[in-house]
Amino acid sequence: MIITELSNVGDIIQNQREFFQTGKTKDVTFRIEQLINLKQAIIEHEQSIVEALQADLHKPEVETYLTEIGVIKEIDYAIKHLKTWTKPKKTAVSFDFFSYSARIYPEPLGVVLIIGPWNYPFQLIISPLVGAIAAGNCAIIKPSEIASHTSRIIAEIVAKYFDPAYIAVVEGGVEASQKLLAEKFDHIFFTGGTAVGKIIMAAAAKYLTPVTLELGGKSPCIVDTDINLEHTVRRITWGKFINAGQTCIAPDYLLVDKKIKKDLIDGLGKSLKEFYGDNPANSPDYARIISQKHFDRLVNFLKDGEVIIGGVAQASERYIAPTVIDNVSLEDSIMQEEIFGPILPIIEYTDIAEAIALINSRPKPLALYLFSQNKNLQKRVLQETSSGGVCINDTVMQVGVSSLPFGGVGDSGIGNYHGKASFDTFSHNKSVLQNSFWLDLKWRYAPYEGKLPLIKKLLG
Ligand code: NAD
Repeated sequence: MIITELSNVGDIIQNQREFFQTGKTKDVTFRIEQLINLKQAIIEHEQSIVEALQADLHKPEVETYLTEIGVIKEIDYAIKHLKTWTKPKKTAVSFDFFSYSARIYPEPLGVVLIIGPWNYPFQLIISPLVGAIAAGNCAIIKPSEIASHTSRIIAEIVAKYFDPAYIAVVEGGVEASQKLLAEKFDHIFFTGGTAVGKIIMAAAAKYLTPVTLELGGKSPCIVDTDINLEHTVRRITWGKFINAGQTCIAPDYLLVDKKIKKDLIDGLGKSLKEFYGDNPANSPDYARIISQKHFDRLVNFLKDGEVIIGGVAQASERYIAPTVIDNVSLEDSIMQEEIFGPILPIIEYTDIAEAIALINSRPKPLALYLFSQNKNLQKRVLQETSSGGVCINDTVMQVGVSSLPFGGVGDSGIGNYHGKASFDTFSHNKSVLQNSFWLDLKWRYAPYEGKLPLIKKLLG
């Protein structure tokens, strides 16, 4: 059954609450079976997933495997570690608690809501779902209506492999989202823009629902002189232009040491040719802009600064060539909002302090990139800036390491996930303290007379 009827939302949640109450989802064997089920569902529908992403974003098959179907790695990781994660953990107690034992029991939250964006529309729904299942929750999923083909294939797969009383998909846009947000959930996991993130948090506040907000922002990429230029340009070109720049952790703009700027620009030109040929419009390996609205927004950025590579746009195909822009001013619109497209402005610095000051004058980014082999510089940038994550001498790859929590800080988000962090996000850590009956010291009981010196000693 595919859920499209919004009037059913209350019923779906009620059914999920009843299913959760049966305790079935708390069974670790059940969770592992469901993760295996999810993996199987993806493997059996690989071709349809590739086609849906081709229709939505013109996404090349290799990119779909790398960045969407590759979510299978997260499923395998959860299956491998789930038994360890779910075990109660004994914790130490201090000497004055010598007759007690203390443990932490991770328990599922209940019925959770997952709302996804359009840019990696499959992976960014399935990856949090892995955490929700692993932690023993029921889940309602709302994929992005803008990547409509992917939304449909997610709805079909979930309806085929899962009972809606356990996992259900509600398709639709803002109206569907708002209808869901009017209900009470035990957690809301949202991936999308900062502006909508504020709407989600306001709706969650009504029920004191905890939120994870995976948001965006302008992720800077610093390029020092102490680098391997050939590797640097390739890694920047890949991270910026994969999915036509529509990546939340794409390098948004470059901060380049003036001494290496010319070589870097020449190198970027060469690697773009190597990746996409003389005319990227003809390359099967280059994606398109998701919608007319986003196309128009990006074309507007082409008016800022001076285009030195690319700059071509074709509305009929929603194609924007990989573009590099020099001489932008910090007041230009391209430097005021997240670009989220294949346009890369370059800003030069003469002293790293200028680059750091610029980063610190802006909202905290989701990712920060630094290309430099200089250990002191690495240390300084790590110490003097704050961002969701950092990747040194590469771009985007940090997202693929399951042992690294992924998330923002400040305007780029609240909370994190991937690997164990996903399990933690969808669990409550219940603290359990147990005393025994073999002794009952009276130091804390009334009457208190004469007990203060001992209490003071214990505190000291
Ligand atoms: P968006 O915020 O417009 O939409 C995300 C989801 O929210 C969609 O499902 C949409 O239907 C819903 N939505 C939109 N308006 C709403 C409203 N008024 N009320 C309730 N729900 C609403 O984001 P997008 O355009 O799909 O994605 C792009 C943004 O997402 C970028 O800012 C990008 O950086 C960010 N992003 C972040 C991550 C991350 O992991 N941190 C990953 C991908 C994208």
